[in-house]
Amino acid sequence: MDFEPTYTGEQEKFRLEVRAWLAENLPSGIVHPADPIDLTTEQYELRRDLGRRLGEKGWLWPTAPVEYGGGGLSLDYSVIIEEEIDNVGMTLPPYYDSGGKLGGASILVWGSEEQKQFFLKLIFRGEVRTWQLLSEPEAGSDLANVKTTAIRDGDDYVINGQKVFVGSGLGCDYMWTITVTDTEAKRHENLGWFMIKADLPGITIQPMDLLISGGESGAGSGVKNTVFFDNVRVPAFNLIGGENQGWKVATTHLELEHGTGGRISRNWLVDRMFEYCQTTQRRGQPMSKDPEVRDRLVDIYIEAEITRLFNLRNYWMRHSGANITYEGPQASYFRKQSGLRQATAILDILGPAAMTYDPELGAGEGHVEAYMRSALIALHPGGTTDIQKVIMARRIGIGREVKEKAGALA
Ligand SMILES: Cc1cc2nc3c(=O)[nH]c(=O)nc-3n(C[C@H](O)[C@H](O)[C@H](O)COP(=O)(O)OP(=O)(O)OC[C@H]3O[C@@H](n4cnc5c(N)ncnc54)[C@H](O)[C@@H]3O)c2cc1C
Repeated sequence: MDFEPTYTGEQEKFRLEVRAWLAENLPSGIVHPADPIDLTTEQYELRRDLGRRLGEKGWLWPTAPVEYGGGGLSLDYSVIIEEEIDNVGMTLPPYYDSGGKLGGASILVWGSEEQKQFFLKLIFRGEVRTWQLLSEPEAGSDLANVKTTAIRDGDDYVINGQKVFVGSGLGCDYMWTITVTDTEAKRHENLGWFMIKADLPGITIQPMDLLISGGESGAGSGVKNTVFFDNVRVPAFNLIGGENQGWKVATTHLELEHGTGGRISRNWLVDRMFEYCQTTQRRGQPMSKDPEVRDRLVDIYIEAEITRLFNLRNYWMRHSGANITYEGPQASYFRKQSGLRQATAILDILGPAAMTYDPELGAGEGHVEAYMRSALIALHPGGTTDIQKVIMARRIGIGREVKEKAGALA
């Protein structure tokens, strides 16, 4: 059995159309900084511009319904778009947009018709960039423990509290966030989700100093922030899923975040490592001729391919409406642990050259060193490795008496 999808002549014709469109519309001058913290405003704007153009074509959110600004395409066509975008070194969307990806999908399931018309068109056409704001000082793995409050006052909710480890550099247009909407109600029955305009009075964004944030892709976030809400007034229209119904919405959001909503992409670092080892001499020959180097390069290749195939399977399951159980956390757990194994193999091959950002001494113009940091960091966001295991255990029947179901995706 071959895990790779095969395509009809019609679909291959579509691939050529996408390729030609990208050749014409990919802005010239796009560069990929090794550390996403170095993404400039100019580079960010080039990516947003590409996002808007993809949005106009319906290719930014290929499978999303046309009436809400998506492409209404079938799974096969959307895989082709994802693959072609990846081939030019970009992602869908071509910028960090975690709240758009997860908030958009959640609104599609839980929003009212008016909310879908309003918010989804903005997101699916690439007109806004949205951050996801979940974590708080006392609520990371235990998300239901959030303390930020949203209390109804007339036609508004008034939001007070603090979110940590959120967002990116260069700002956003909207914030997708979970709060307490009833301070007296029981755990899981006291929450509400909001789509909040980012420029409302009372919102303060404070950058955090981290080892690195985000990996080697067009979608790396670069910076994380603490966001403070100080008596922020938000129209009641922006509450998604209803007051105290937030845990229901969270099951959709978290399902996607925990590995079911991954993208289809190659690991570009593998290409960089191959190229580096083929073009760099050690003991009078290209490094790739050394059997020990080759041995470890194959290990990296295998890890990257398994990760890609897990993601491809999950993408297919999600968009074809297949019965999802443990597959999300399985892929997430594998990707995170695999990143560490690949980092160890890179260190075995390159030694100290893997650990310096210096373009003269380091490998891959800083990309390798940045990867070493991001492989460590990646264990944490989107649910830690421990949490992925906890969820898997519940879903395969060894964590709970009744097997836990996956979150609603439709
Ligand atoms: C680079 C980066 C980007 C991030 N981006 C975002 C973002 O965009 N938006 C956002 O809202 N948040 C974001 N986060 C926050 C992230 O979601 C949390 O850090 C994560 O959920 C873990 O929460 P915590 O840090 O509070 O650790 P804790 O939950 O306190 O966990 C501490 C340790 O205990 C373990 N642990 C906790 N509970 C269990 C359990 N039940 N069983 C076994 N082990 C357990 C954890 O695995 C971990 O090792 C980001 C974090 C990082 C590092």
